[in-house]
Amino acid sequence: MKRRPDSRPMKALPILETKRTALENCVFCPKLCRSACPVSNAEPRETLTPWGKMSMAYFAAHGDVPAETSYARTAWACTGCYGCRELCDHRNDVTSALYLARSAWQARGTAPEQAARTLAQQGGREAETRAAIARLAEDAGARSDARVGLLVGCTYSRKAPDVAREAVEVAKALAGEDVALIDACCGLPLLMAGDAPGFERRAVAMAERLRGFERVAVVDAGCAAALRLHYRAVHVELEKPVSLLVEWAAREAARFARLDARSGREVREAVRWHDPCQLGRGLGIYEAPRTVLTRILGEAPAEFDARRERATCAGGGGLLPVTMPEQARTIAEARLEEHARAGGGRVVTGCASSLHALRRASGAGHARASAVEDIVTWMARSLRAARTGPAA
Ligand code: SF4
Ligand code: SF4
Repeated sequence: MKRRPDSRPMKALPILETKRTALENCVFCPKLCRSACPVSNAEPRETLTPWGKMSMAYFAAHGDVPAETSYARTAWACTGCYGCRELCDHRNDVTSALYLARSAWQARGTAPEQAARTLAQQGGREAETRAAIARLAEDAGARSDARVGLLVGCTYSRKAPDVAREAVEVAKALAGEDVALIDACCGLPLLMAGDAPGFERRAVAMAERLRGFERVAVVDAGCAAALRLHYRAVHVELEKPVSLLVEWAAREAARFARLDARSGREVREAVRWHDPCQLGRGLGIYEAPRTVLTRILGEAPAEFDARRERATCAGGGGLLPVTMPEQARTIAEARLEEHARAGGGRVVTGCASSLHALRRASGAGHARASAVEDIVTWMARSLRAARTGPAA
């Protein structure tokens, strides 16, 4: 492979021209961020480091490696965790460049089979989500003409319906009235699988769907990152800013009952907050979940050694569980090991991907992780206690 500046147009994967600077930053870099990447930590190979993945996209864009799936695959070896950016002097946006590389490879017909299948199945997944949201609306008594819209997201509604129900309960309590459930997809699965035009169409449709609500709350940090960060990249503006449910809760923290020893609703084990990548490094939200948990627990939650900007990824993002399931599981297990080393107890997170990844790894026999929960569950428990006394 060449290792010198290359001013030729990127004829082989032309849409990557817009990411030339980001790609060149990495190609000519001494790999300062390599220790941050959960994927190359799970499978130590040079081609899986941020440098390796960006270099592969760069050389492919110039036609210096053939348009073959074996080369394309590295673009999907990324959870989109932004971990490398924290150690990078350029604050290089590797995630966006690799997501665009995925679209370039899909357009060439050389994407890995799992990513192509994800695109083929998107229509079915969206139908499943609509059905799940319709059931949820019926169970939870949501009204379609409400002033407050709630975007639960496809992963919570399909894979963690318990948390989805609690999210509706929390939103209704905070709003003091019914909420409407939004059953449209933010489009993030398409972006991660490599369909940038499809993502843009979903972004336009979502902006239209949200028009008219007085307030919109988003439960999943992944959806929120799509709406706040990735929509901007495709020039889709929302009529009003959207809040994360946890941000809304933090502003109303006084309404949450304490579930600590003094209240008689004692929490007997450590409750440790995991900063989800999209919430923390993606959206820069570190305080809101800590404010909410501190209020509920009567003290600050326990912390991982690797936290906030340096939090370790849980392996659930970027489609990695689909394209590299073993590595994704290794990453989640490593986070649970960190939790165990820090003293164990319960892990609380705030995005559907990390919840699902950690629950699955924990359920696979990780003896020292007693429970993996979502912060929405704690909010619902606390609000129930405020209304009716101790919750189960
Ligand atoms: S993200 Fe930054 S530190 Fe990492 S390889 Fe690229 S330029 Fe270097
Ligand atoms: S965004 Fe995360 S997974 Fe992707 S290359 Fe950077 S550190 Fe690795």
